[in-house]
Amino acid sequence: MTADNIRRIKEDIAQAAIRSGRGENSVRLMAVSKMHSASAVLEAARAGQLLFGENRVQEALPKFSEVRTEIPQAELHIIGSLQRNKVRQALSASDCVQSLDRISLADEIERVLSGGDRHLAVFIEVRTGEETKSGFTDEDAVYCALDHIGESCPHLDVRGFMTMAPLTDDTNEIRQAFKKLASLAHRARARFSEWALDELSMGMSNDYHIAIEEGSTLVRIGRAIFGERHES
Ligand SMILES: *Cc1c(COP(=O)(O)O)cnc(C)c1O
Repeated sequence: MTADNIRRIKEDIAQAAIRSGRGENSVRLMAVSKMHSASAVLEAARAGQLLFGENRVQEALPKFSEVRTEIPQAELHIIGSLQRNKVRQALSASDCVQSLDRISLADEIERVLSGGDRHLAVFIEVRTGEETKSGFTDEDAVYCALDHIGESCPHLDVRGFMTMAPLTDDTNEIRQAFKKLASLAHRARARFSEWALDELSMGMSNDYHIAIEEGSTLVRIGRAIFGERHES
């Protein structure tokens, strides 16, 4: 089932990209495996899906150590709010933090990596809707964070931006959130030439078509791959 869903969604993503005048491989699929088991992740990985996202470090750590005994190349991004005291653990198991939502978190990541050779890929999370809670709230705050990272966090490699659209059925409101992120990214690229900033992580199970139309390069899909979550 999981393998069929992945095949179908990948095909669908490629078609949506082509319809938007983009290359068929211009949008990557991330499988969001929160609240699903290591065996569900392995089923996806055996079907060729190697990029995963998790919200909670405590949940992801044991799950991915199990997954990697069979599939060592499984890639994990942290996409949920990350507490300062979980940074070291998070970095031990993940390849990227997409939910960089405050300067103090950048500083903590830098502190953990300082003195070493490892650089961490990060995305700046931006709050593009009124009622969503996480992320930098406006463009000035994003620029301020990028200035700070450029000056003080040499072990962070900023790849681009991430957002969650508001939870609503109003597709116009969803589209506005994605447009907002795309135009912010466009201006940030002109201003900060030290990073490519070419990744736009936006789009989930219910809104990824809109996100691709608005320039998403990475969609984060949970329910449409693994089924409904049973949140406790
Ligand atoms: C849960 C989650 C997703 C996936 O949502 P679905 O609706 O299951 O596709 C994507 N991004 C973030 C940040 C999430 O927390």
